[in-house]
This record gives sequence, structure tokens and C-alpha cells, in this order.
Amino acid sequence: MKATLDHIGIAVGDIAQALAFYRDALGLEVEAPEDVVSQRVRAHFVPVGAAALELLEATAADSAIAKFIDRRGPGLHHVTLRVDDIRAALAQLTARGVRLVDSQPRPGAEGALVAFIHPSAAHGVLIELKQAPVRVTLEVKSMPFGDLQLTALHDGPFRLDGGAMFGVVPRPLWEKLAPPDDRNRIQLAMRPLLIEAPWGRMIVDCGAGDKMGEKQRDIYALDRTRTLDHALAEVGLSADRIDVVLPTHLHFDHFGGATVRDNGRLRPRFPAARHYIRSAEWEDATHPHERNRASYLQDDFVPLDGAADVQFFDGDVTIRPGIDVARTGGHTGQHQIVFVKSAGKTAVFVADLIPTIAHLQDPWVMGYDLFPMETLAFKRRFIREAIDQDYLIFFEHDPHVAAGYIRERNGKRHVEQVL
Ligand SMILES: [Zn+2]
Repeated sequence: MKATLDHIGIAVGDIAQALAFYRDALGLEVEAPEDVVSQRVRAHFVPVGAAALELLEATAADSAIAKFIDRRGPGLHHVTLRVDDIRAALAQLTARGVRLVDSQPRPGAEGALVAFIHPSAAHGVLIELKQAPVRVTLEVKSMPFGDLQLTALHDGPFRLDGGAMFGVVPRPLWEKLAPPDDRNRIQLAMRPLLIEAPWGRMIVDCGAGDKMGEKQRDIYALDRTRTLDHALAEVGLSADRIDVVLPTHLHFDHFGGATVRDNGRLRPRFPAARHYIRSAEWEDATHPHERNRASYLQDDFVPLDGAADVQFFDGDVTIRPGIDVARTGGHTGQHQIVFVKSAGKTAVFVADLIPTIAHLQDPWVMGYDLFPMETLAFKRRFIREAIDQDYLIFFEHDPHVAAGYIRERNGKRHVEQVL
């Protein structure tokens, strides 16, 4: 197997004294600490070249690090080797009779997979194997499409509960496609679509925006270092140059970016845009019930009423030449997808109908969906059509694949990535 030194873990009794040495005396840079709640440990990473030192501080008396220090005093705790395929590595070790602490990988910090080899097998050293976590590709990807220019923007990464993302599918099946972190969350992207056309510029969905408080940001692992504003700037645009805003539905991860808080006041993010909203979706969003209240955040859309140009509509309509919406229902009562047609070709922004490429099988429907059987019926029909008619599919939440073609071979589906 190919392995790279990832980091060396050092159990530390007194973090202030340890920082006085590693940070102040050695002059090394120490990153902001990370709490690994499940291990009751706080980790302080100290990058040294391609690898790092990890200063480990116990946060509770029953933490493994506290016990280690009680027994042996502070010092070298473990060596972590990074491997590409942790399951293959464990299988190879098992076949050779190596004693393992973990025969199966378990979730580490930030979605990494880890497993420990017993120190008795490694000549007194605790060795941790680690498969690097899935990171969202925060790249703005663009392509011409007939007379149009289509750009997959992004509004940073976030995480949602893995169980809720895959509904009735058991974890052993989905965790190989979407490894959960130590809080059972999987890595997702928010990728609004920019359509540049002779008639103007349209944005389909607009990410979560920046109104969430500390607690919500933590729950959803919102990292706001690279957002929609950065993505728009990369293509030479800003929010005030968008002519049309078209949400697929009004959940916060799709429409939170429609308003901004400015000195405590909420205002439209896209001041020059006409916002096209299904009347029935507006009705549902402004009258939430216990099941959808956490997803419909009133500050995302209510402030638009009166302050922005909002065009309400009913049914499946043409928004602009070649841009049609189709109600799927399922995820929300009025969830819709967007068909983009130009020069005889069709692209479809499928939003939460097929949130990631791990959702290609018909019954892999989200637990979040209010009407899962409706999702299943629409999805079954739609994917057949997408394969047969060669639709280019835009995946809003997939961490890596912004767009591609769904292909089928011997009944098995995969995506041929385009963006
Ligand atoms: Zn979503």
C-alpha cells in the first residue's frame, strides 16, 4: 500500500506550557483548535511541511488521552499514515494477521475515515490509518451551451445528516459513497446556476447566504470563507448585475442568499432582479408547520415582499426563452426543476430531486422529503428521460460533480462528469 505521513499525535498535559514551547520557543504556527467531541479531545495542529504535529489535549477525565497521560505521562501518542483506500488497507493487514484495534474504519474529524493498528503489532507505536475527507470542490465551472453560457457557481460547503440525506437506505450502503463525519454529517455543496443569455443574466437558487447565527453555522458546518460573492466575482459579476432570480424552492440552502442583513436591516441581495416565485411555494413557506419550519427561514424571503420585484406564478411556465420550470413536488409540495434549452440541447438543474450523484438509484430518496412517493414517481420517469434524451444534469449539492450526463450500463447508473 502507498502511505504518506499525515501527522504525529502528541499527548499534552498542560496546553499552555506546550504552546509556550511549540508556538513561542520553536516559533511554529499553531492552527485554531478543533474539538473532537466523540473522543473528548481538543486537537491543535502544527503544520510542519507536508505533515503536521497534533497536540492532543483531553477535555474530560475519561478521555483516552487523559488515561494515556495518567499511565505513561505526556509524549508521543500516535503516528498517522494517510492511505487512499482505508478498507483495502485494513483488508491487506487482516490477511497478514496483523492485530488491529479497528477492523472497520470509523469517522474521524471533518469526515475523514480512520482506523487504529494495535501498538503490539507496530513495535510499541500506535498507528492510525486515515483516508482523507471529502472536500467540496469550490471551483467556478463554466461552459457554453448553445447560445447560452452556463456557470456552476458555489456558496461554500455545508453538511447535513447522512441518514436524513438517504432516507430509508441503510448506512452501510450509503456511507461508502458519502462518508459521514463524527457527527454523522456528510459533505455537500451549494451550487447555484448562472445562465447568461442574450435576454440577460439569471441565477437559479442562491445558496444559504450569511444570516445564520453561530449555533446554526455549527450544526450545518457552514464555512463562509468562499461564498457566492467570491464565485460571482470570479466571473466578473456581482449580485447587483443579476436580472432574474429563480428559486427551485424556498429552503434556506437554496434561497437564504436572497436577502442580506445590513446594519440590522434585511434587504434584497439582488436589487435589480425580478424574482420568480411559485405562489403556492410562497404560501407554504410563509405558513410552515412543525415538519418544515427549520428549513423555511422567514428572513430569507418575507423581506422581499414589497422591497424587491417579485413575480408570482402558477403552474409549469416559461420564465425566459428556453427556460422552463417543472413542478416535481416530493421534496416540498411545490419543488421544481429548471429546464434550459438552447440549439436543440437540454440541460436540467435538478435541485433536490437528485441532490448528489449518490442519489442516482430511484429509491434513494431523501428522508427530508415531505412526499417521498411523489419524489420517487417523478424521479423514475425523469431519469429515464434524461438518459434517453441525453440531458446535461446540474447537481446542486454534489461535493465534486457540478454537471454531467447520467449513463446506464447493464442496469447500473453512473455520471459522466462534464463540469
Ligand atoms: Zn437542498
